[in-house]
Amino acid sequence: MTNFNIDVIKKNTFDAIVIGSGISGGWAAKELTGKGLKTLVIERGRNVRHISDYPTSTMNPWQFEHRGQLPLEVKEANPIISKCYAFYEGTTQFFVKDAEHPYIQEKPFDWIRGYQVGGKSLLWAREVQRWSKYDFEGPARDGYAVEWPIGYDDLAPWYSYVETFAGVSGNKDGLDELPDGEFLPPFELSCVEKHFKEQLAKNYKNRHLIIARKAHITESRPIFAEQGRNPCMNRTICERGCPFGGYFSSNASTIPWAQKTGKMTLQPDSVVHSIIYDEKKGKATGVRVINAETKEMTEYYAKIIFVNAAALNTNLILLNSKSNRFPNGLGNDNGLLGKFIAFHIYRARINAEYDGMLDLTTKGKQPAGGYIPRFRNVFKQETDFLRGYAAGFSARRWTYQDRNGIGETLKANLLNPKLGNWGVGSHIMGETIPKESNYVALDNSKTDPFGIPQLKISVDYDDNDEKMIKDFFEQMTEMFTKAGFKNIRTSDSKQAPGLDIHEMGGVRMGKDPKTSLLNKWNQLHACKNVFVTDGACMTSTSTQNPSLTYMALTARAANYAVEALKKKEL
Ligand SMILES: Cc1cc2nc3c(=O)[nH]c(=O)nc-3n(C[C@H](O)[C@H](O)[C@H](O)COP(=O)(O)OP(=O)(O)OC[C@H]3O[C@@H](n4cnc5c(N)ncnc54)[C@H](O)[C@@H]3O)c2cc1C
Ligand code: SF4
Repeated sequence: MTNFNIDVIKKNTFDAIVIGSGISGGWAAKELTGKGLKTLVIERGRNVRHISDYPTSTMNPWQFEHRGQLPLEVKEANPIISKCYAFYEGTTQFFVKDAEHPYIQEKPFDWIRGYQVGGKSLLWAREVQRWSKYDFEGPARDGYAVEWPIGYDDLAPWYSYVETFAGVSGNKDGLDELPDGEFLPPFELSCVEKHFKEQLAKNYKNRHLIIARKAHITESRPIFAEQGRNPCMNRTICERGCPFGGYFSSNASTIPWAQKTGKMTLQPDSVVHSIIYDEKKGKATGVRVINAETKEMTEYYAKIIFVNAAALNTNLILLNSKSNRFPNGLGNDNGLLGKFIAFHIYRARINAEYDGMLDLTTKGKQPAGGYIPRFRNVFKQETDFLRGYAAGFSARRWTYQDRNGIGETLKANLLNPKLGNWGVGSHIMGETIPKESNYVALDNSKTDPFGIPQLKISVDYDDNDEKMIKDFFEQMTEMFTKAGFKNIRTSDSKQAPGLDIHEMGGVRMGKDPKTSLLNKWNQLHACKNVFVTDGACMTSTSTQNPSLTYMALTARAANYAVEALKKKEL
């Protein structure tokens, strides 16, 4: 029996464990296996293999039972995820259904999740802008949250590293507030987007429109061929999975790369319950895992553990990792685990029309749109609210159907849509201030289907957010007016936090163990062989889409971890 146990322990022992196989977990797997570590990647969802498990990726609209629309019963059964623009008949297989994984909304919070190998990397919109030095310096300069323990210079080489491998299209714009990266050829702005860019340059010193930087391959290179990935074909149905590997996902890129090393064991259908802490050793020794089918619990062991379950689930796992030494959750000596959650404001939109350039139109599809980097409070404080917002911008020629006539005339009218004015639109991407009162915690009374306490989420907007939204409407109205746009309409969806899908924090990085959970290498201050490199580690949120920063932080931390292991520091 003893021998049997020793054998099981040996079989279940690895050099490293990675929890979660999404965007950040995929990078941890790639880096750790690439450096020779025998790595177990534990994923709660099912396996999704690149290409063969993308059932809708080549389907035409008429091949869907409901032409791509969601049937009413699916919408009614899933009021939360139905609010997400990417949830439709072609993508239902990649979203967590509302009833399957319950959580408690102390305040309204639309939690959008993808539980499968690849996580949300299959579904994401692939916008990848770097942070600037002003973003990292924000908390220290403006006196909110805590100081970041790293700055732009620490992360810049790792941004370059992940961009080169993932493939990022973009233009070298030379902006201090949005540093350039290692870009493949950019997508193109439409003529009215170019017009708006020119108008901004003419009327403002520090306001710019650029083509968004996107994790799409726009040029063949050996590094992509080695991954089996090919240039993007501009189909813009990426969220169904891309058979060309045109956009970056863990499934197309990091996971198969890690697999090729022969060092990775990928274990889907395995829900991490908690991390095991050994008091005598003063470190974590492994994880407790529940088999999603049989509900049986098994332990796995490793020298280092990377927690990459996506921000809020990472908080949940750490909060649930209780021991005599850490009765309130792993590493939670200061009681701040789960607190200072922040997100991005996506509530506000502005639309208008442009009646110039009517001899031109848009043709075909285009995976990237315009992006207006943050221009408020970047270099100095200039408004009555802290921080600022970036904005998306797009302009497309409208078409409409003339429904007049009868018989052949009507048929001809319907089959030949006419061109209208240009429709232009912009949406806010605003920074929220991390606050102790925005938190997640374990609920003591309700458990999920695996017997794990449900997560209670209490996150809301504040006055700063409301002022920012007002400013967005005022500034964009002025910018639209100067560009000659007409019929300007603003709208505030009042959507709850969560739908931005950029939730962050709870396990923030910082310089001082009294006020933060992680050090500058993403190690728990109080348990150095546990690394958190997904959105949970974010000290502040800035305005840029965050996943590129998670990838860079993960690659940096994984390489540090391997070096520290070699030096026997962990
Ligand atoms: C429609 C949409 C559009 C988006 N657009 C963008 C964008 O343009 N740019 C951008 O930067 N970001 C975007 N995002 C957000 C982006 O997808 C996330 O920031 C990113 O996926 C986070 O990476 P992650 O590794 O932290 O989490 P995920 O990719 O979600 O991966 C986490 C993994 O952990 C697994 N897991 C969770 N709990 C456990 C457990 N207990 N045990 C084992 N495994 C577990 C999950 O199943 C999942 O596979 C978008 C998201 C969506 C849905
Ligand atoms: S737009 Fe490009 S990346 Fe997206 S599905 Fe099409 S080919 Fe793939």
